[in-house]
Amino acid sequence: MAKKPVKVLIANPRGFCAGVQRAIEIVEKALRRFGTPVYVRHEIVHNRFVVEGLQQKGAIFVDTLDDVPAGAPVIFSAHGVPKSVPAAAKRRNMLFVDATCPLVSKVHREAEHHQKTGLHTILIGHAGHPEVIGTMGQLEDGAMTLVETLEDVAALNFDQDTPLAYVTQTTLSLDDTAEIVRVLTLKYPHIATPKKEDICYATTNRQVAVKALAEACDRVIVIGSPNSSNSLRLVEVAERGGALAKLVQRATNIDWNWISDARTIGITAGASAPEILVDEVIQALGRHFDITIDHVTTSTENITFKLPAILLKDAG
Ligand code: SF4
Repeated sequence: MAKKPVKVLIANPRGFCAGVQRAIEIVEKALRRFGTPVYVRHEIVHNRFVVEGLQQKGAIFVDTLDDVPAGAPVIFSAHGVPKSVPAAAKRRNMLFVDATCPLVSKVHREAEHHQKTGLHTILIGHAGHPEVIGTMGQLEDGAMTLVETLEDVAALNFDQDTPLAYVTQTTLSLDDTAEIVRVLTLKYPHIATPKKEDICYATTNRQVAVKALAEACDRVIVIGSPNSSNSLRLVEVAERGGALAKLVQRATNIDWNWISDARTIGITAGASAPEILVDEVIQALGRHFDITIDHVTTSTENITFKLPAILLKDAG
């Protein structure tokens, strides 16, 4: 039977961001420099495929520093860690490499600056996400207040003369955050705002691209992990753009009933999803449909981040 013709539109940019690329490279270089095993505190990035690939090369993922044997090197994930973590590692004379994305570190420094200048920081983000735990952990308990929703903003009861500033998680929805910021600044007009947006370039670019993509599609497949904040936001943005959207970890998760009547299928990938998984999904679509491929490009990226000095000494 002839395969049904389907148009496949691929979003640009998609997939790996500079922070994720750097974090993976840090683990790979650390394995070459220090030998195996190298310990990694928490998933280095939120992608099982990436994590399993690094495990095969000799990385061991652990939840706490207590799980790292004495003398073994440990890497902190791209999401950032509370200040107490490197402090504890130093106390124990551990060899550690911090793979926190520089754009997350930027938010950490902003929060510190606010505290030094006497401002109470409001963090817009998702409770329990490792990045939020890391950012909250830059200041002592009580120095930062987390808001997730408009209701949380409504419940804030700071006096009008309380000096305030806000920062945000880097991987939030642009539209939802703009609304929270609008209501927050309406409530506290004197609140200090970030000099440069905290939502990172990669989150922004991927959301803009999927929005444009979704307008031309009836289904959008977002490749990413269920615990990846920026991937979940891509699903929401695609749906707001008018398409039905689903998150899949890889091609084997595609629901073929859901997609069977599609005429135009969009594909994008979260910032921690490798391109090999995008290729896998395209190939799977090609086995089911007679596909023609096109791209929707809304921006190009050429950002890279330097590796930590300790790994730059390595020629490998
Ligand atoms: S999504 Fe943004 S903040 Fe997170 S690692 Fe990538 S560049 Fe850094």
